[in-house]
Amino acid sequence: MGKRGDNGDDWDMPTKSVHAGEMHDASGSHIDPVHMTSTYVFEDSEAIRDWASGESGAHVYSRVGNPNREALARKLSALEGFGMEEPVFAEIFSSGMGAVSSALLGLTGSGDHIIAQSVLYGTTNHLVNEVLPKYGITNSRVPLLQGDLLEQELASNPNTKVVYIETPANPTMSVIDIASTTEIAHAHGARVVVDNTFATPVLQRPLALGADVVIHSTTKFINGHGTVIGGALVCRDPDFMENGGGALVRYIGAVPSAMDCWLTSIGLKTLPLRMREHCANARALAEFLDSNDRVARTHWPGLESHPQHEIAARQMDDFGAMISIDMGDFDSATRLMDGLTMCSLAVSLGNVDTLVQHPASMTHRLMSEEDRLSVGITNGMIRISAGIESAKDIIADFDRAISGL
Ligand SMILES: *Cc1c(COP(=O)(O)O)cnc(C)c1O
Repeated sequence: MGKRGDNGDDWDMPTKSVHAGEMHDASGSHIDPVHMTSTYVFEDSEAIRDWASGESGAHVYSRVGNPNREALARKLSALEGFGMEEPVFAEIFSSGMGAVSSALLGLTGSGDHIIAQSVLYGTTNHLVNEVLPKYGITNSRVPLLQGDLLEQELASNPNTKVVYIETPANPTMSVIDIASTTEIAHAHGARVVVDNTFATPVLQRPLALGADVVIHSTTKFINGHGTVIGGALVCRDPDFMENGGGALVRYIGAVPSAMDCWLTSIGLKTLPLRMREHCANARALAEFLDSNDRVARTHWPGLESHPQHEIAARQMDDFGAMISIDMGDFDSATRLMDGLTMCSLAVSLGNVDTLVQHPASMTHRLMSEEDRLSVGITNGMIRISAGIESAKDIIADFDRAISGL
């Protein structure tokens, strides 16, 4: 077997991140070239026949397929399918929302129902509450998809096609048990979709826990450097990929550019390395914040005080880089943010630098205050995406800002 292009099945996660899915094309390029082209040339009509019969696997048009998109899909599927016997397939989208909406539209139709946890990523929440109902797709919520309540909700909505999970959940850092939720959903004939953006395949692999579809905002940790908006859909079912939600990339058209796929593939090579630093820094920062008297509450799944710490320890390899804290009131939260000098005030997450945002006035501002408070998004809450700077410097920035309150 040739050396380059060998996708070693027994490789570890860091090795797969670096080597899996690389093109190794005839040019001999060490790094994959970027295929910035809309269409592809056929040598002659025989080549068209070979393409039409599926024999050649030739490319025809970049909305349908592009070598950089396929290389990224191969790399990501190798990571999401890590340790699994069954093959895993991925399709890449131009945004996380492209992947979320394609997954949901691929699994539901008019008259179907979706059950989700109470707090979802803001735009997913809007999609499920405001957009899908126009097409006859309804939804209901079960706090943290808690087992007995989920059973009841499934029993009273036999048209449920999807149970939708985000874990850890944004921005409260609640954790949902993927394996047990999936068991309940499957017993009622529903499929399980997991948004794995916060954990990444390095920390959590929902398909191996039984889930049917994983979606990602690759904008976040997977790209890791804040250069691209992108998304991915990953599953074990080749038919869903070819003819269902995966195929919607070409019908709805949330197609990523070759350049964006290339940048994301390069980011993905260092994901295991970055996640190690992200998690270690999050631990140091969470412990500092948790022990600080000015911070009313610290939510991080790695703290033993976290209500679902046991579940997180079971289903995740580490506890992630996302922390939220409650400063008690709006004024203290905004003054703390204004006191930070190194960390950036910005939405998004998963970048190499530490990002801080205020959910009540930023990502979740469209929710009513009553709805926000009922799901635990307080006015004093700040969400932190711990970066890979030195933990000492991140903590010093927070220490200074908190001391100045
Ligand atoms: C950012 C994000 C999305 C949406 O992804 P985009 O790339 O912004 O479209 C979905 N889910 C979660 C958890 C996210 O953080």
